[in-house]
Amino acid sequence: MKNIVIFGAPGSGKGTQSEKMIRKYGFGHISTGDVLRDQIKRGTKLGETAKGYIDNGQLIPDDLMVSILADVYDSFGKDHEGVIFDGFPRTIPQAEALKEMLAKRGHKVAAMIELDVPKDELTKRLILRGKESGRSDDNEETIKKRLTVYHNQTAPLIDWYEKEGIHHHIKGLGELDRIFGDICAVIDAL
Ligand code: AMP
Repeated sequence: MKNIVIFGAPGSGKGTQSEKMIRKYGFGHISTGDVLRDQIKRGTKLGETAKGYIDNGQLIPDDLMVSILADVYDSFGKDHEGVIFDGFPRTIPQAEALKEMLAKRGHKVAAMIELDVPKDELTKRLILRGKESGRSDDNEETIKKRLTVYHNQTAPLIDWYEKEGIHHHIKGLGELDRIFGDICAVIDAL
């Protein structure tokens, strides 16, 4: 199993590049943001709790996120070459929980791929996405909060994965295909 964490700030292109990876490598895909939005749409208790945090640009508490992770991971069974984690982990406790959950199954994260995009560009992309997709958290005020949350709570994971020896930095600005080529180079070398 080649489990990959695709990492970056909101708007860094994680979703777009994940789609390309799924097509090329047949990986499973866990987007915790998509899981939560689906729960909101279905009106579940988890969705109800999540909505308050999402609309406020805050992270859902770690214990809640971690509690749903193993089930989603196990639902892929053994049919995939690996799983892409998109939007998870977002905090150090989540990274530790992911490591432990995978270790229990004899698995691990093979690579953490960071898409590095300057803040001005992120804001521009997210405002545009908000106009196109109507995502409730892609408005200027919430975007600002999400980028601050990324900086304070999520960016420290770069050092954490560097220490694990599996952090790969990719320039996330420029041609989509060049970025994807850089990602493939990392995956093919695993
Ligand atoms: P995303 O689609 O990945 O940008 O996630 C949208 C929102 O869902 C985030 O701003 C958080 O409120 C919530 N969320 C998604 N993944 C996580 C996670 N791993 N931990 C906490 N909150 C999350």
